[in-house]
Amino acid sequence: MTTDISDEELVARFPGEPITHDNAAHYRGRLRRQLLLNRCDDCGRWHAPPKPVCPDCWSWRVAAQPVSGDGEIFMAIFLHRGPAVPGVDYSTPYPVVTVELAEQEGLRFTSTVVGADNAAIRIGAPVRLAWIERNGVPLPVFELKESV
Ligand SMILES: [Zn+2]
Repeated sequence: MTTDISDEELVARFPGEPITHDNAAHYRGRLRRQLLLNRCDDCGRWHAPPKPVCPDCWSWRVAAQPVSGDGEIFMAIFLHRGPAVPGVDYSTPYPVVTVELAEQEGLRFTSTVVGADNAAIRIGAPVRLAWIERNGVPLPVFELKESV
């Protein structure tokens, strides 16, 4: 486990985010622009959101591991309004996508898509991981592999 910054500093870097023992490694990874999700050391299954115990084999040997960030859009919604967040423009409107990651069927991560027209953000579209800065910290986002 990486202990490059203290838990207190980690919480301070992500105000408003629900940082827990189970997801602290994920947030530490974000600071290095590395997308980490929990994987079971015993059965090899990935799972998200993070839990202390593998939901498949009940092993406690769960550790955050890097994922490629490649995947396909599983679900997309477009927010016309929402809480004021720096960098979020609801007039576009703002896309929220759940991506099914290439690592494993059913392993999904929710973020947004950058650099694409909303009309091109479709179910099944292949995406790759990208990083932007929001609130002074890196945010994992996705971009379309083929821009339309
Ligand atoms: Zn397991």
